[in-house]
Amino acid sequence: MQIILSRYAGACYGVERALSLVEEAAANSGPVSTLGQLIHNPQVVAALEARGIRAVEGVADADGGALVIRSHGVAPEVIDAAREQGLEVIDATCPHVSAAQQAARELSEQGYTVVVVGEQGHPEVEAIRAWAGDGTLVVQEPADLEHKGDVLFCVPDSGNTGVAMSPESRHKGEEHKGDVPFCVPDVRPADDALSSEHKRVRPLCAPPLCAAAASPPVGLVVQTTQSPAALEAIVAALRQRGIEPQVRNTICSATRQRQQAAAELAANVNLMLVVGGRNSGNTTRLSEICSAVCPATYHIESPAEIESHWLAGVEKVGITAGASTPEAQIAAVVKRLEQIGASLAGNDLSAVSLS
Ligand code: SF4
Repeated sequence: MQIILSRYAGACYGVERALSLVEEAAANSGPVSTLGQLIHNPQVVAALEARGIRAVEGVADADGGALVIRSHGVAPEVIDAAREQGLEVIDATCPHVSAAQQAARELSEQGYTVVVVGEQGHPEVEAIRAWAGDGTLVVQEPADLEHKGDVLFCVPDSGNTGVAMSPESRHKGEEHKGDVPFCVPDVRPADDALSSEHKRVRPLCAPPLCAAAASPPVGLVVQTTQSPAALEAIVAALRQRGIEPQVRNTICSATRQRQQAAAELAANVNLMLVVGGRNSGNTTRLSEICSAVCPATYHIESPAEIESHWLAGVEKVGITAGASTPEAQIAAVVKRLEQIGASLAGNDLSAVSLS
């Protein structure tokens, strides 16, 4: 049995940085707490707690000392509140996440309706949304756009004068017979053709008939751990509606590298192990990507979950790990595989190699 490690796997720059900032704070400050779990990895969180570094749910729950903002970042108001409370703020927001926050804010200030492509409710996404301000939308897949139709793609034929339009949109709007953000009567379906639900959101009068005239300019930013395919799907869905979004691709290279390397490795092994917290979005996405090319893919949090029978008759085992998985956890998985491999009759275990 051959064990092959993905060439990009495990803790990324942002996670390593957050962990080292916590270590530094623990060595130099008084009490240290983290705002939420520092990373989506149960073992690491438990180890920090054992050392008295506890995760608090809100700023008000911190007992003084230092408060670490994790790599996902937070709304700017949260940092202000912590400082007002007298806490020493240690900002471990990953620089890539900060870049996404800044991109969202800039687009908002330039008059775009900001759409964050990402997981609704994920802390990083909620923070990016907060940096862009009111009216920011979150979509994860094209179907989500339908629920935003009344805001993005179609406006009632009266009122709604608050829709901002870029010069480009206005230009397109002229082609659609109007510089006004309304549906033009000669191309909009008659009201009689609309159900009562459609009258409320008027989806039928949007693509492709009048979206260019009716839509505000749309700016996209992306949760750093999303896949390029997820972004492309949203861009394509917007284009179908006649909207050419301004795209700030804020997917971080660590995510891209891990996903590409994992997909390549999974296509060439019989069994794939994806190591990391089940609450880790990027680990879960790695698992989905691997499953698509290697049906025998298992998402595990610890070596104890590996079952011997998974390895029966397996020639090549691939291993990858999410961006919040420390090196030591990968090493423990390798060790367990070696132990199981050695115990399987007739197994010729070869050295661990990199993909
Ligand atoms: S995955 Fe990328 S954005 Fe997220 S913490 Fe790691 S380096 Fe930063």
